[in-house]
Order: sequence, then C-alpha cells, then structure tokens
Amino acid sequence: AQDVLRQSQKLEVIGQLTGGVAHDFNNLLTVIKSSTDLLKRPDLAEARRGRYIEAISDTVDRAAKLTNQLLAFARRQTLQPKVFAACDSVRVLSEMLGTLTGSRIRVVTEVPENDCFVNADPNQFDTALVNMAVNARDAMEGEGQLTVRVRAVERMPPVRAHPAVDGPFVAVSISDTGIGMTPETLGRIFEPFFTTKAVGQGTGLGLSQVFGFAKQSQGEVVVESVVGQGTTFTLYLPRVGSAIQAPERGEPTPVVDGH
Ligand code: ADP
Repeated sequence: AQDVLRQSQKLEVIGQLTGGVAHDFNNLLTVIKSSTDLLKRPDLAEARRGRYIEAISDTVDRAAKLTNQLLAFARRQTLQPKVFAACDSVRVLSEMLGTLTGSRIRVVTEVPENDCFVNADPNQFDTALVNMAVNARDAMEGEGQLTVRVRAVERMPPVRAHPAVDGPFVAVSISDTGIGMTPETLGRIFEPFFTTKAVGQGTGLGLSQVFGFAKQSQGEVVVESVVGQGTTFTLYLPRVGSAIQAPERGEPTPVVDGH
C-alpha cells in the first residue's frame, strides 16, 4: 500500500514536472520567436544583430537540455514484467481508494478468490489502476459509486476495429457513475497530454500510461462511456493459467509472448 501511495504521489510530481517542462519550453519558443522577428528589421544595428543571434543560440541550447531531461525520464520507465497475483494487488488498492475518493463516493469491490495470475509489471499495474481511479473520482465530482471488478475471461471483445481475441485474460474494470464522455472526447483520451481538466488539474498523461502499459503487456484497454451516466475502463491482461505454478511475488520471470 505504501508503494502505491508513493507511486501515485510520484505520478503527481511527474505530471507537474511535465506540465512545467511544457510551460518552460513554450517560454523558450517565445524568446526565439521574438528574437527572429527583431532580426528581420532592416534598420537593425550590427551589434544588436549579434546579441539577438546569441540569445537564440542560448535559448536553443536550453530547450535541448529540457527535451533531453524528458527523454532521460521516459527511458527510466522500462517495464519489468513478472507473474503476480493481480487480485491481491486489486484488493490492497481498493482498500486505499477510499482515501483517494473521499467519503461521498462509495467504493465497491468484486474480486474473485482465484484465477488471477498475470504476467506484467506489478508497479505499472498499480499505477494504471490509480490513474483510472483518479479519473473516475474526477468524473463524479464528489459523489457516486466507484466499482472495481476483476474477472477471469476467455476472450476479449472486439476493440477499435480489431476482432475478438482469444485469451485467457484477467479483466480489471473500474466503473464510475460520473459525467461520461462525448464521442469527440472518447476519440482522443489516449493521446498524450490530452485533457479536459483545468490547468494544473490534469496532465493528460494518465490514460497514456494505462494504454502503453496494456499494449506492452500484450493486453488491451477498453472503454465504454455514456454521457451523464458513467464510464467503465477495462484492462485486459494475459492470464497465467491456474494450472501453472506461479512463482513467489518478487521473483522476476521472462515476458510471455503475445497471443
Ligand atoms: P487527465 O486525467 O490528466 O486529464 P488522462 O489521460 O487520465 O489525463 O485522461 C484524459 C481525459 O480523458 C480526461 O481529461 C477526461 O476528459 C477523460 N476521462 C478519463 N477518464 C474519464 C472518466 N472516467 N470519465 C469521464 N472522462 C474521463
């Protein structure tokens, strides 16, 4: 539980960081743009021209440094998949969701006792669930019901023009009774930096993480939403059959090929 909290705090920091970087980057572009505009003036003194060019060059260096920092950060987020009991993680997480959502949101959890081993990065799994839960909370504006449901399924429904895929999968759903999404919003939610939230409230990175994690784990994320009624996000992850003896949590295992 501590880990998850730390993870969600880290995520908030990342959000602020990325938002901050984008803001700084825009400021640098403004400096470059105004300097080039000034350079276009025909009556410009030679000394000034030199200074403007210098300013542009410095600013480009600073911008490059910023993007390098972002790239270094992105590279740190490599997945470390292993076989773990997703149901256990969901149970632990659900208990914490109350503090995240506040007392006027009811948290309902439906988690089966067995059939719950998946091969994925457990930290990224927790992060994905927290990201979806934060969105569910925000969509309900303080009141409603958040349902966390885990099922063992044999097939995945058709998604984004792909036919149904045979599993087996573990399906983890986060449902809310919130505002729902219009088709326009639905079409863009997985884009990095897409947000409908106020400046400082949303980063537009939460669902990009969920999407990236699902894809890299040979899984999927499916969304159903009705404006004014609510939204369900379902994360499908390849299930490790119950016949297979799952190793202890913490022991790394190789990635299973996608099927
Ligand atoms: P952020 O939460 O920072 O905006 P996300 O990538 O997590 O970034 O979400 C992108 C957008 O998707 C949100 O701004 C919101 O418009 C929409 N969204 C995500 N989850 C939900 C939900 N459960 N209900 C309604 N809208 C949602």
